[in-house]
Amino acid sequence: MAKRDYYEVLGVSKSADENEIKKAYRKLAKKYHPDANPGDKEAEEKFKEVGEAYEVLSDSQKRAAYDQYGHAAFEQGGMESGGGFGGFSGGVDMGDIFESFFGGFGDVFGGGSSRRRNGPVNGSDIQVSLTLSFEEAVFGCSKEINITVTDNCDQCHGSGAKPGTNAETCSRCHGSGQESVMRQTAFGAMRSVTTCSACGGKGKIIKEKCPKCGGQGRLRVTKRVKVDVPKGINHGQSIRKAGLGEAGINGGQPGDLYIEIRVMPHKQFVRSGNDILLDVNIDMIQAALGDNITIPTLEGNEIYGVKAGTQPESKVILRNKGVWNVRNNKERGNMILTFKVSIPTKLTEKQKEILRNFKNPDAEPKKEEHKGLFSKKKK
Ligand SMILES: [Zn+2]
Ligand SMILES: [Zn+2]
Repeated sequence: MAKRDYYEVLGVSKSADENEIKKAYRKLAKKYHPDANPGDKEAEEKFKEVGEAYEVLSDSQKRAAYDQYGHAAFEQGGMESGGGFGGFSGGVDMGDIFESFFGGFGDVFGGGSSRRRNGPVNGSDIQVSLTLSFEEAVFGCSKEINITVTDNCDQCHGSGAKPGTNAETCSRCHGSGQESVMRQTAFGAMRSVTTCSACGGKGKIIKEKCPKCGGQGRLRVTKRVKVDVPKGINHGQSIRKAGLGEAGINGGQPGDLYIEIRVMPHKQFVRSGNDILLDVNIDMIQAALGDNITIPTLEGNEIYGVKAGTQPESKVILRNKGVWNVRNNKERGNMILTFKVSIPTKLTEKQKEILRNFKNPDAEPKKEEHKGLFSKKKK
């Protein structure tokens, strides 16, 4: 498939500045983040595409190359026909050279090595699930959950240096995390940029490591988080807590925490959107004659008058007796009753007699006669 234009991918103009590009990227990356779209292949592709576009457009060097040569600037073995970069001519495999100029793209999306390690990196979002009872979801509740995240070390505040000492700027790369090396190639000496070998790209060297985090600046910590569950939340919906995901690195923004709600089934009610479905068992006498019965509702037991002549499987809607709309709790769904009429399976002789008479009340006086006729016929 043809690659889309990187500016188009991010939805920015060719003259967009760094900030516009960053803003567009953050918005799209959040939208298509795999954590927010589990199992969605299309979103995953979009997420990669957006990441790739940002990787290029956020770097002035790569952006300049892209503006001049388009996607060809980054293709393995690209620029076959007298391509312009550095004035080299055709048939040369430029992949290797571009890799070393630009650091390559291989690991960008896995959070790997090619991003400049001393730049800010935003923390990832994390997702946890929270199981609620039916009532807790319907009425809302307040919960506390434990989450385990990578956070900045509280002893060294993320620097990795022993408290009271400072990480020193790397003398080899002067803090850039990158170093230039001259390489001899078929085309003569070429300057290429690689990760600084002294500091591993961090730009800083820690002489005395923080004892708590061992110089990492980060620790796995378990935090207690209070979650206010709004009334009406439903199974599968998520609550977002901004900034409670993994800590960012080098001043990057922390990720978000997504709490996915699971709701346990109720023993009588079935939830359908914001409606509550309830099967109401009545016997055929109640169905025929009507009756006052007790039914459960979200507000507790209530008396409901079954109408005479209620048919099996017929439904009655009780308006505004359902679940509150999670986005507007002035709105409520309905409660929908379905009548389940039971037919007796064991009858006494007397009950059978009554039912026979019920079927044809006028026949009652002729009962003996009928029996007589029948027995005569049999003979
Ligand atoms: Zn520390
Ligand atoms: Zn260095």
